Amino acid sequence: MRLLLVEDDAVIAHELVLRWERHQWTVEAVGTLQAADAALAHRAVDLVVLDLGLPDGDGLRWLAQLRRTDRKTPVLVLTARDRVVDRVEGLRTGADDYLVKPFAVEELDARVEVLTRRAQRTREDCVQYGRLSWFGNEGRVDIAGQPLVLLPREFEVLGLLVRRAPRLVPKRALIDALAERNLELSDSAAEVYVSRLRRKLTGSGLAIRTLRGFGYVLEAEALP
Ligand code: CA
Repeated sequence: MRLLLVEDDAVIAHELVLRWERHQWTVEAVGTLQAADAALAHRAVDLVVLDLGLPDGDGLRWLAQLRRTDRKTPVLVLTARDRVVDRVEGLRTGADDYLVKPFAVEELDARVEVLTRRAQRTREDCVQYGRLSWFGNEGRVDIAGQPLVLLPREFEVLGLLVRRAPRLVPKRALIDALAERNLELSDSAAEVYVSRLRRKLTGSGLAIRTLRGFGYVLEAEALP
């Protein structure tokens, strides 16, 4: 887990870095917004912990700017600004959580864990295979960056196949998984959806192979 700590109070920063490194988290601590920009340009992080009063500007304004290009990276604001209006503004600006100083480090740790767990789940909800990207949260599929138009059941079937790819998805597992999502599918309907999907994937570099009596495999074809 990789954290970016934006905090100009050297004592707090030092303590948090020591503590989080003991948790085996990778922490990069910076004391200015400019250094925060540089750190994020360099590599993605799982969470930003952001102080607001920083020597080269206001953390909230920086957060608003960040949210124009990055809506996903979780940000936890850590600040002495404790008025309700400050917290509301922080959350509205795009903070995922807000903790007021002075704080209990155990509480901060717990909140960091919640946010990164959530981010982890979001990541799991985006699966890539070959030229295909499947975005569970958004109900969207791209092939080489181009959207693929699918009906809801086709989307779910493809999601199951891509998560397992290039391994076999037994037909029974496919039907059961759809039933869990309240998308009832009969045995023969499963075949219909798979064959429709297969048609839609034509020319995409991906193919669904049927293993008679077993199930389906999504395979990436060698591209010419
Ligand atoms: Ca500060």
